[in-house]
Amino acid sequence: MLQIEIDRLNKHYAGFHALKDINIAIPRGSFVALVGPSGCGKSTLLRTLAGLEKTSSGDIRIAGTSVIGKPPRERDVAMVFQSYALYPHMDVEHNMNYSMRLKRRPKPEIAERTRAAAETLGLGSLLDRLPKALSGGQRQRVAMGRAIVRNPKVFLFDEPLSNLDAALRVHMRSEIRKLHERLKATSVYVTHDQVEAMTMADHIVVMRAGVVEQQGSPLDLYDKPANKFVAGFIGSPAMNFIPAIVSPDGHSLTIEGDAATMLVLDRKLAPGARLWAGLRPEHLSLTPVAGSLAIDAVVASVESTGSMTFIMVAVGAQQLVVAHSGRPGVEKGGAVRLHISPRNIHLFDRETELAVS
Ligand code: ATP
Repeated sequence: MLQIEIDRLNKHYAGFHALKDINIAIPRGSFVALVGPSGCGKSTLLRTLAGLEKTSSGDIRIAGTSVIGKPPRERDVAMVFQSYALYPHMDVEHNMNYSMRLKRRPKPEIAERTRAAAETLGLGSLLDRLPKALSGGQRQRVAMGRAIVRNPKVFLFDEPLSNLDAALRVHMRSEIRKLHERLKATSVYVTHDQVEAMTMADHIVVMRAGVVEQQGSPLDLYDKPANKFVAGFIGSPAMNFIPAIVSPDGHSLTIEGDAATMLVLDRKLAPGARLWAGLRPEHLSLTPVAGSLAIDAVVASVESTGSMTFIMVAVGAQQLVVAHSGRPGVEKGGAVRLHISPRNIHLFDRETELAVS
């Protein structure tokens, strides 16, 4: 059963086409991440779902009913903002139950729902604190609590973790995910951080310049990116791209400007085709694996985080990043041989940038 259907949705600001023919179907209970670079339209899309922004054409249905023209309060959605948007003069309890008080819900119901939300979020001991006496993570929880007490059909999150430090962000990611598993409410989550999207969502929508470039499960996007943009956006560190040309027999690739490196393919392609070869840093190995291809390279620099080592190498005129777990003992200026399995070579047309298979 679909909870949200976005159907050929367009949004024009004065002279600017911010959302272009967006189609997204969101099953009930799923956690969807909208990702993309700054300015791609993800907040605009979320705000049109909330009813905070008018649409220009197309339809949005929530639980089967069109909500176009309906004000936010009639859509049964709750939004959690990046800024938390807490009332500074109200304590945690009153921030959380503000919407129910506004609707004049019975006092026992207000008390019970506030208590339950506070317990879910571990806010029980902070109910009489003002926002200024809370940490960033606690404020974020209050903002979530305010959404939870309303028991909405849909939660909308607009970069809710971007004001938190890295460690707290990782912690809150798993808290929000756990909460989602408990409440099972349909959630739409905007982030520019693809790692956040990959770890939290069951469905990811990748946007660029107002267009949906691809949508699917996190691993689908990682394994089968539809184009070079999605391939470069999903995965960290980002995929390496090298210009390559298909050999006259169609069975191998040579790297442009470096005839010495020949990559034999596991598929036959159009002879002479000009492609981008996409190699993920984590798929380039310093040791051979069964059936792998070899690429000779020179180490340009080495960065280690302790557990991971990122090696920048030169292959002819091309620069690549290699991600190695552990400490490989390579040095700047040293020669290395990289190995990659043919099935891990992604190929994209150089003109259209679409995946070639
Ligand atoms: P960010 O990650 O930076 O928040 P975003 O993907 O959420 O970016 P939006 O805020 O949705 O992007 O903006 C999408 C595009 O629409 C941007 O180019 C922005 O400049 C434009 N835009 C947003 N609001 C308006 C407005 N009120 N009038 C005109 N253009 C707008």
